[in-house]
Amino acid sequence: MSLFTRSSAAPTQTPTFDDTPAPDEDLAPSTSVSGDGRETTFEALGVADDLTAVLAAAGIEHPFPIQALAIPDALAGLDICGKAQTGSGKTLAFGLPLVERTTTARRRRPHSLVLAPTRELANQIAEDLTPLAAARGLWLTTIYGGVSMSRQVRALHEGVDIVIATPGRLNDLLEQEELSLEAVSFVVVDEADQMADMGFLPQVERILNQIDGRPQTLLFSATLDGAVGTLVRRYQQHPARHEVASTTPTVDQLEQRFIGVHADDRVDVTSEICAGAQRALVFVRTTRGADRVAKRLGQTGLRVAAIHGRLTQNRREATLERFRKGVAPVLVATNVAARGLHVDGVDVVVHFDPPEDHKTYLHRSGRTARAGEGGMVVTLVMPEQRPDIDTLQRDAGTDYAVVEMRPDDPRLRDLASWEAPREERRSRGNSRRDGDRAGSRGAPTNGVVGRRPGKRQPGRSRGRRSRGAPGGAGGNSRGGGARRAGGRRAATR
Ligand code: AMP
Repeated sequence: MSLFTRSSAAPTQTPTFDDTPAPDEDLAPSTSVSGDGRETTFEALGVADDLTAVLAAAGIEHPFPIQALAIPDALAGLDICGKAQTGSGKTLAFGLPLVERTTTARRRRPHSLVLAPTRELANQIAEDLTPLAAARGLWLTTIYGGVSMSRQVRALHEGVDIVIATPGRLNDLLEQEELSLEAVSFVVVDEADQMADMGFLPQVERILNQIDGRPQTLLFSATLDGAVGTLVRRYQQHPARHEVASTTPTVDQLEQRFIGVHADDRVDVTSEICAGAQRALVFVRTTRGADRVAKRLGQTGLRVAAIHGRLTQNRREATLERFRKGVAPVLVATNVAARGLHVDGVDVVVHFDPPEDHKTYLHRSGRTARAGEGGMVVTLVMPEQRPDIDTLQRDAGTDYAVVEMRPDDPRLRDLASWEAPREERRSRGNSRRDGDRAGSRGAPTNGVVGRRPGKRQPGRSRGRRSRGAPGGAGGNSRGGGARRAGGRRAATR
């Protein structure tokens, strides 16, 4: 059993109906409303039997709130503007209608397009959609930079119905006229806020401008203000707006510990924490720091890998795979590498270097507590970092006291066994936050469906290696492999 308590809290939902982009409410406490997804089924939402069978085979039987909200509207042909984060189940929220509404395309003229900010997310989406596409005999491919273009071009020439792409490489291929978007009738812009942060929106607009007519457009983003709001206004028509309180940034869903350490003890303290974890993510500030900390943690006897922006795409993927499979259960990561990092079953996130600000804190911390599970988050605080941590906590709306520990402190091995003390000073004089927190901490949420532990997810584990590619081209979907399921025309090119 894990030493890191996992609560059964899951995504909550707040349908919104107004037409103005919602303000950035990233940090607002989640509101839970009625509409428990456990009473709903995918069939009741209008999902066809062949697709629900694929979900059932993966242990997915009841829709998450964002799915319950968005799927019927998307199946009815409406644009969707979804405020939902990684971990909320948004991939299936757009993926099921996408597969339902995609038909077989001509070569180099895909019918459906998904834009994602990172290669990792594109791969993740492809993995989730592959078995659903296979059920319909549809082909899909991923297109992103950092890998050879030729396989992607070949896939497009062979004919793909669904393209899942990052904007940069897709624009390159459009410029080279390797594909045309004139037949696209279904578009998803996923994690639009991240695309905005990464400066991709001009590229996204260039792509959307090339689509003839008015495709059905689904946009998902953690925030809908600023540039994302502009995108919504320009490219969506009367979208149905759906919002689920995020699984990532509600501090109340996380078990948090702030541990005061001396510089010399940081590695050993981290090692003690990670020793009991099924999977632990350790965040550091720099690439060099990632390699150094990984090496030193390795010297304490842990199996550790490091991931950062300087690794090649192949190495990043190989490293992630080792982490996913538990070959290296401790992953030391920089923020950059953590973008688009979607791994379930992370028991504990350790902020070895404190995050720059509360947003980064919540983003990093959200790598645990995926799919509505609770998660343990530990921040190491050296004496000189205290003022920054105070600011961070204030901005994040938390008020934990920093507890000093040495590596031999038994509490490190069992973080869930002790209650994190609160800092008195901040609990006074902030009645809104305190009131909200008191009301939401530990309270059961409505409108939630917990992920079923131990169940397979669509496209995970089984699909990738078991399906052979036509012509023996290998079962690797990344960067554009092709494969055929059970003799059917299906899946990933
Ligand atoms: P996503 O936000 O789309 O990345 O999904 C987060 C995780 O939840 C993924 O591992 C999904 O496979 C899983 N998931 C999505 N929808 C459901 C559901 N209705 N029931 C159980 N697990 C789900």
